[in-house]
Amino acid sequence: IVVIDGVQKYFGAHHVLKDVSLTVRRGEVVVICGRSGSGKSTLLRCVDQLETIDGGTIHAAGHLMGFREKNGKRIPLGDAQVARQQRDLGMVFQNFNLFPHISVIDNITLAPVRILKRNKAEARAEARTLLKRVGLPDKENAYPRQLSGGQQQRVAIARALAMQPKVMLFDEPTSALDPEMISEVLDVMVDLSRQGMTMIVVTHEMGFARAAADRVLLMHEGHIVEEAAPETFFNHPESEHTKLFLSKIL
Ligand code: ATP
Ligand code: MG
Repeated sequence: IVVIDGVQKYFGAHHVLKDVSLTVRRGEVVVICGRSGSGKSTLLRCVDQLETIDGGTIHAAGHLMGFREKNGKRIPLGDAQVARQQRDLGMVFQNFNLFPHISVIDNITLAPVRILKRNKAEARAEARTLLKRVGLPDKENAYPRQLSGGQQQRVAIARALAMQPKVMLFDEPTSALDPEMISEVLDVMVDLSRQGMTMIVVTHEMGFARAAADRVLLMHEGHIVEEAAPETFFNHPESEHTKLFLSKIL
């Protein structure tokens, strides 16, 4: 469902993704870890087309991201077509990124109503179902500032799910949270994985990786240097980079 093939990304002269390839099958959960600056966020942002790529291809949710093919040539898509592709991917960021001036339920229904042209009453009914699913059935009228970080992040997950994405991308969803709130967010994510959602998750939460991941990857200086099942990754890593990384976080 996601095929990243030979992707290159530069910021100016800085080569940030160096020939990155990764295939994620439907229903799989892939965890990406690695040192700060290794390119994890950039990779997710390229998949979601928040950054353009300088080489290689990304297929996600049935789309060739960012391009259409005509007579064997790749023609870049316009903004509207990019936005259409992006609908099929849900992204959750470190800092929640909720709209501060509207209520929880409006945060969740805004995009389905405006972009998918969903009926408002239906969208609200679905939003309530999603709020139950993330454990916040009584918060629909709250404003983001009235919620804890963990609650805001669960609303952000519900908001992404409201677009019925085929793939969910998470960029360090718990790293801005106080320790006592981390598990409430991870529990929602584990639940989501059990329901068969395809997920790419940048996180250093090894408990989550062990509980939910099919594969764990280590990124180092723009390369994927290790890719293994969680048990192998944590107990018998091959790469020296992984050994060093694990010795610092465990
Ligand atoms: P962290 O764990 O700190 O979030 P990361 O693995 O997510 O790190 P990236 O954010 O992908 O790392 O950054 C990879 C490299 O690209 C870093 O050296 C960073 O400084 C650089 N970089 C990221 N975004 C930009 C940008 N918009 N312009 C220029 N350089 C950037
Ligand atoms: Mg990052």
